[in-house]
This record gives sequence, structure tokens and C-alpha cells, in this order.
Amino acid sequence: MERRFACTVCGKCCYGWLPLSISDALSHAHRFPLAVLWGTVRQGAKAFDLTEKLGIRLDKKTALRITPIAYLPPSFQCPALGEDMRCTIHEEKPVRCRTMPFSADREMSDQADLLIPRSGWLCNTQPDAPVVYRDGNILDATDFNRERQVLQDQATTIQSYAAFLLKSAPSLKAQLDKQAKRPAGGQIVLKILPLLRKVADIDLAYFAARQALVLKDILARLPETPEFNEYRKNYVDGLEEMDRMLISAKGTI
Ligand code: SF4
Ligand code: SF4
Repeated sequence: MERRFACTVCGKCCYGWLPLSISDALSHAHRFPLAVLWGTVRQGAKAFDLTEKLGIRLDKKTALRITPIAYLPPSFQCPALGEDMRCTIHEEKPVRCRTMPFSADREMSDQADLLIPRSGWLCNTQPDAPVVYRDGNILDATDFNRERQVLQDQATTIQSYAAFLLKSAPSLKAQLDKQAKRPAGGQIVLKILPLLRKVADIDLAYFAARQALVLKDILARLPETPEFNEYRKNYVDGLEEMDRMLISAKGTI
């Protein structure tokens, strides 16, 4: 079985939540409003084994997929998307964007459905597009392997952060337990700071100064309608956290 695919640069996949590595989250803190996404993956799901390896277990039957994200409403385009629908930061774009449409979160043998364009996406899968996937193998797996390596390298940090939060926040554990019982699972968006506290050699004040500007900017652009209430709340909370960190950093100078 082989699949063809070529990007026509329509920009349609550059909207809404964008999973990031920890390192991408830090280097793009002046560009993306950041958060951490926690998702439950039940035993028996295709992604269970890999998720468990890269993340942490909630219980015997549930693994947790934990990833920093650019936390944007689905109707908001990526701040790096240009007017011509091209990425304006091609040379420094996140590893997730480089691997698209493949995903290093899944086994290489489980990528075929990712090559079927979603509704509204203008990816070329016609006979004039190059073959990119054959018999369960990505023909040029350079970006896939790089993203997988990044995920493996940061797994210890993610695991330490998750273990700490599950122990210190019983309400989070209860929420995840509830979600794990649902057939479709669930997702929870949390603040980025507790994760960053687990990263060695990070200048949190520098991070907070850059992130605060992004949060202020997106809050100013967020429509005053109920559909954005959850985003508004999270941005306001995030901004307060960044401001607290900047005040405490000033106090230590
Ligand atoms: S960084 Fe570039 S490729 Fe990635 S979502 Fe944004 S515009 Fe698209
Ligand atoms: S939706 Fe498809 S064609 Fe459009 S930018 Fe994304 S990968 Fe390229």
C-alpha cells in the first residue's frame, strides 16, 4: 500500500492548538500563548504503548499524553502564518510542523490515515503528488525521527512534572479519573509554569517577560463572546502568573 501527498501551502492546518516540544515552547514564548495539554489514552488504543512510554500512567488501563501546546482558539491562525499562507518562520518552525502530516506520537506503521486531508484542507493526494508512505514506512523519515528523538529526550522531564502534579493536586487526579472512564477520553488544559519549573537552567523571568506580552496581545484580540470564555479565563490566569513571577524576580535583584 502506498500513499501520495504534497503540501499546496493552503495554510489550513496552521490554526488552533499546536503541540510543541518543551524546547519549542521556550524558544517561541514570544510568539505563542502557551499551556500544557493532558489527554487520557486507554489501553487497547493504538497510541497506548507509545504514550505510556513517553508519558505516565494514570492507572493500569490509562496512559497520559502530556504535551505543551500553542493554546489558540480553533478559529485563530498561528501567529507565524503569513498573509500568503506561508509559514514566516520556516527555518525555526516547531518540530511538530516539520513532521506534518506525519506524527511521531504514533508508530511509523500507523500513519496512513494522517495522509487523508481533513475537511477543508487542500493537500494534494492525487497521482501527480509524490509517494511519501509505502507499506507502513515513511520514505523520508528524517523529520519523523527527529521529532521522536525530541519526545524521547524530554520524556523524563514530562514524567517528573506529571508525577509531581498528580501527587500535589488531588482534584486533577479526580478529573482525569472521570475522563478516563469516558469512551472518548478527554483533555485538560493546564498552565505551563509548573512544567517549566522541572526544566534545568531556565531563566523564568526572561520567559515570563516574553510570554506576558503574548498573553496581553491575544487578550486584546479575543472577541467578547461566550465561546471564548474558557480561553479568556486561561489567558487572564496565565498573565497573572507571569506578572507574579516578574514581581518576584525583581524582588531578588
Ligand atoms: S509555525 Fe509555521 S508551519 Fe507551524 S503552525 Fe505556525 S505557520 Fe504553520
Ligand atoms: S492543510 Fe495540507 S496543503 Fe494546507 S498547509 Fe497544511 S499540509 Fe499544506
